[in-house]
Amino acid sequence: MTGKGYFVKCPVCENKFDRSVVNSVKINNRYYHEKCAEEKQKLQNDKEELIKFIQKCIGQEVNKKITNQVEKFGRDGYKFKGIQLTIEYYLLLGYELNAQEGLSFVPYYYNDAKHHYIMKQKANKAAEEVDEPVKQRSIRIKDPELRERHRKKGDIDIEEL
Ligand SMILES: [Zn+2]
Repeated sequence: MTGKGYFVKCPVCENKFDRSVVNSVKINNRYYHEKCAEEKQKLQNDKEELIKFIQKCIGQEVNKKITNQVEKFGRDGYKFKGIQLTIEYYLLLGYELNAQEGLSFVPYYYNDAKHHYIMKQKANKAAEEVDEPVKQRSIRIKDPELRERHRKKGDIDIEEL
């Protein structure tokens, strides 16, 4: 099968493709790869979620300054989810978000925030792993008397039970 040669450039990955051959999605008169359109939609959702989060923090509609900052960070390669975590981290440190200053702190705290949440995730995971054998053990030795004997002898002989 040969294509009809309807070549378009995907705005997301900037690769050219023949839209008579490759599955594509049309948005605002531009053709996107299906996967790239999905990615674009996901980014859009993340951005809307971030704006809603900021509105909740400052207790009012976001102003032009904040909207522009969000757009600029997006262009500079910051992840919208990452920006949201950075704001959470900033608040955690005891600072406040206000509409006048907006998000100018984000570039200074972005990496710290990332580090903080990666460490937190690791700690949670480690805690889960440690938890498991401890639980099993406490089920086996419920009886206080047995536990006492266990403590004295150092171990319990299964045959003795
Ligand atoms: Zn693409």
